[in-house]
Amino acid sequence: MGSKTTGPGAGLATASTADQVAVRRHNLAVVATHLRRHGARSRARIAAETGLNKATVSSLVAELCTRGLLMEGEVERGAVGRPGRVVEIDTASYCALGAEVNIDYVSVLAMDLGGGVVEERRVPMDTATMAPDVVQARMAETTAEIIDRVVARGTRPVGLTLAVPGLSDESTGQVHDAPNLGWRDQPVVEAVRRRLGHPDFPIHLDNEANLAALAELDDRGPDSSVQHLLLLTGAVGVGGGVVCGGQLLRGARGFAGELGHVQVDRDGEPCPCGRRGCWETVVGLKALLRLAADADDEVRDPAVDLERRLEAVRRRAAAGDERTLGAIDEVGRWLVSGCGNLVNVFNPEVLVLGGYFAVLGEWFVPQLREGLRAHVFAPDAGGVEVELSGLGFSAAVRGGALRAAQAVFDDPTLAPVREPIDLDHPTPDRTGALA
Ligand SMILES: [Zn+2]
Repeated sequence: MGSKTTGPGAGLATASTADQVAVRRHNLAVVATHLRRHGARSRARIAAETGLNKATVSSLVAELCTRGLLMEGEVERGAVGRPGRVVEIDTASYCALGAEVNIDYVSVLAMDLGGGVVEERRVPMDTATMAPDVVQARMAETTAEIIDRVVARGTRPVGLTLAVPGLSDESTGQVHDAPNLGWRDQPVVEAVRRRLGHPDFPIHLDNEANLAALAELDDRGPDSSVQHLLLLTGAVGVGGGVVCGGQLLRGARGFAGELGHVQVDRDGEPCPCGRRGCWETVVGLKALLRLAADADDEVRDPAVDLERRLEAVRRRAAAGDERTLGAIDEVGRWLVSGCGNLVNVFNPEVLVLGGYFAVLGEWFVPQLREGLRAHVFAPDAGGVEVELSGLGFSAAVRGGALRAAQAVFDDPTLAPVREPIDLDHPTPDRTGALA
């Protein structure tokens, strides 16, 4: 017979302890995520809504408070029976970061765990003409400035996601190919980590349109039932993000969603990706501007701020300028046929237009609504709604911060305990009374 420490019973006890740890971690995630999605509420209400029992909820809330993820709120108004104190997401202890490099700028955003923007900075930069390491240095510098500001307030970053317009290899932290930046095999995560002095939070890499799609989904709020969303962002490059069943479609190696490089014309214009006739060559900003204006027109001058150039195009269209309206109509036709194919494949509930497509949405949206009804096989275009992004240039950095925060909501034990936890006695609130 084996001894007490090596017998079969010991193995079972270990497995069961591991199970208990896993169950507790899962339940912590359930409570934290519930409050992030639905806002402040009492422990009793959390118990009723999640199906966890009240004592368990009190203990989970106590631990989440000591980990800096939840905090005590006000006394619940209009509660039936004895009024309880609500708990809510702690917006002061931690923040999550997103940093984006794109053709015309580098941008960084810090978000509290409740989803509020704490800091945001966008630095205009002609990144395509600069050496990759110079751009990465500027990205790290801008991120460091934001980190300094949040740390000065006593807030700790939980993670950073870098957003790039290209193929991003999550497993190696390398940008495999970002043709519009001229980047190939760039170890961006390592470069930024080194320049930030090897911080203790994780740094991830993702495609900017994927992250923007996550931000669009989150921006719809807790009452939205949308689970199938297609985001299309138009700039010099055309990017896309596909959300199916509430999850981002990433593909086998994370390279899914390169909608701009779907070939639409075998003999078409050369694309920066090295192929010909990609969708981007007919619906990208360059295609529109080439049709809308002569080469020496200021709207085609990359030295002029992009938002100013787009505003000029919008004004010309609004004034009825025939050439501009003709250009929008021609790009719109390609937009309809490409989006029609995507809607046939994915049957999204919502097609969100971002970037310059949103700036000129006044013209693109009616053309798409009408065109999709004719192009899509399913009746009524499969029920898809065409909408404009309200997030502007912040979509990708917001998505990056959301992704960084998600890691802590998925596993709240990643946030360190700040005080010893007494599971038998729920955390007293800041006035000393027990909730
Ligand atoms: Zn291409």
